[in-house]
Amino acid sequence: MTDISMLIDGERRAATGGATFERRNPLDGGIATRAPAATPADAVAAVEAAHRAFAAWSATGPGERRAALLKAAHALEARADAFVQAMARETGASALWAGFNVHLAAGILTEAASLTTQIAGEVIPSDVPGSLAMGVRQAAGVVVGIAPWNAPVILATRAIATPLACGNTVVLKGSELCPQTHALIIEALDEGGLPRGVVNFVTNAPADAGAVVEAMVAHPAVRRVNFTGSTRVGRLIAQTCAKYLKPAVLELGGKAPFVVLDDADLDAAVNAAIFGSFANSGQICMSTERIVVDNAVADEFVARFAARAQALPLGDPREGPVVLGSVVDMSTVKRCNALIDDALAKGAKLVCGGKAENTLMPATVLDHVTPAMEIYREESFAPVKAVVRVNGEEEAVAIANDNEFGLSSAVFGRDVARAWNVAKRIESGICHVNGPTVHDEAQMPFGGVKASGYGRFGGRAGVEAFTELRWVTVQTTPRHYPF
Ligand code: NAD
Repeated sequence: MTDISMLIDGERRAATGGATFERRNPLDGGIATRAPAATPADAVAAVEAAHRAFAAWSATGPGERRAALLKAAHALEARADAFVQAMARETGASALWAGFNVHLAAGILTEAASLTTQIAGEVIPSDVPGSLAMGVRQAAGVVVGIAPWNAPVILATRAIATPLACGNTVVLKGSELCPQTHALIIEALDEGGLPRGVVNFVTNAPADAGAVVEAMVAHPAVRRVNFTGSTRVGRLIAQTCAKYLKPAVLELGGKAPFVVLDDADLDAAVNAAIFGSFANSGQICMSTERIVVDNAVADEFVARFAARAQALPLGDPREGPVVLGSVVDMSTVKRCNALIDDALAKGAKLVCGGKAENTLMPATVLDHVTPAMEIYREESFAPVKAVVRVNGEEEAVAIANDNEFGLSSAVFGRDVARAWNVAKRIESGICHVNGPTVHDEAQMPFGGVKASGYGRFGGRAGVEAFTELRWVTVQTTPRHYPF
């Protein structure tokens, strides 16, 4: 069991009154972490520390911010083993997934470092003689980042890296399910030598999340909010942000369709579907959730897909390398068991896997899924996958779009022009032709449409999200006035 602290104004702190909460291991119920249970006043103290640090940090040159972010990237990578252990203890994640998290998160910090010289503006022609008119991007202020547990290193790093690169100061609200994993990121940033108050970290007990978040969003110094998590909580945060007129980037749930056209390279499609469906046991917002496969190739595809799925190593990640570790908690198991029961009762065919009794869930494939079944619509967020058979590309597009979510998607077909035209018609923020639905790179515009949220992280899109675009003029000659 590890005790962790918050970081407020450069100091490691407990919550006011010393309150704590515990995160338990999903497999054996042992206490993984004890973390401070912040009060709303603690969260406000973190915002105020960030506010005090803003003037100096936003005035630093790109070189200083770049150096700190690069140092943090190295410090993060140096903690790879600690991340592997913390993730196995707190969320049951495999070492493979933890290692990928650290690798991509370091990439996010490196990319943010490079963005420090890309915060560009423009000179705009003015009709006023002698007026030099510019669109200037400036740091916005304090940014509050709220991150989930499922890709904990990537998503919490993403919540603060580009904001920091742009000259903002930040408060990260850690997840109740992986406070230690999130605290390790903060340690790495602290080691990067960021000045006192530039990065702050608060953790809260689950019951206090709403109050802690609202206290921060309401604070006048907070100028941007970003949230990665479920659509249910995303809506609550959008409402809170609307109340206080705070712009937000919301990265929410997904139900990614994976379209297999009749001319697809089936080996390539199976490899991508296996990776996209079962990485981190399907607990990724971009996870392949609905395999929409043309009837002409469906039997062959499903047979090959199921054979690969069945062979994936499953086990306690603390005992050795696995692909499928533990899912995050028993509520995932219960939800998925109910989805399986519902689908089978309505005529789906279980091809492999099945209901689980503990958090070691097997790779499960349900074929002949129809719109009447809950799994057709609901995010499983687990290794339980639906195959929907279709006739032709029109039906494939219709089924792919018949969902409230729109984050990632994929289309497989050898006729790339045809696959591209299918991709263009899919309602999602992200689509990969002949690639998996799970694909993330720091420099890409990452985000969704429909119930998957709004706004984009990554690269220049991230700079736009976390800066103010101001119109600034300089009058260089005497100005004429009508009176
Ligand atoms: P969650 O929404 O339950 O929790 C995320 C965060 O919300 C936590 O920090 C929690 O403290 C906070 N929270 C909970 N209740 C709150 C409230 N009333 N007010 C304010 N904040 C509150 O999400 P989760 O279960 O941790 O993560 C899984 C979900 O996240 C899935 O739906 C997944 O698809 C989604 N996700 C999306 C992306 C993306 O980039 N679009 C990435 C990863 C995960």
